[in-house]
Amino acid sequence: MTTFAPKTPTPSIRHFGGQANSLSHGHSHNEWRCKHCRKLLGVFRDGQIHLRGGGGHEYLASLPVRAICRECKTLNQKSVV
Ligand SMILES: [Zn+2]
Repeated sequence: MTTFAPKTPTPSIRHFGGQANSLSHGHSHNEWRCKHCRKLLGVFRDGQIHLRGGGGHEYLASLPVRAICRECKTLNQKSVV
């Protein structure tokens, strides 16, 4: 068993605005972005959506899926890729 030092939970104050753009350049096909602020919500892979929450949590969900944007709180829904 590897030991894991838990970090103190921090509210979602992080801002990845400009960073996300440069990282995801050219790979927008599989990305699911907020319809309002274009923040990256998740990535499609093999018919599922890979969601990354704050604090290192990751989720795999099947379509249709809904997610609330961490940035602007807009409800986004996706039923087909
Ligand atoms: Zn948003």
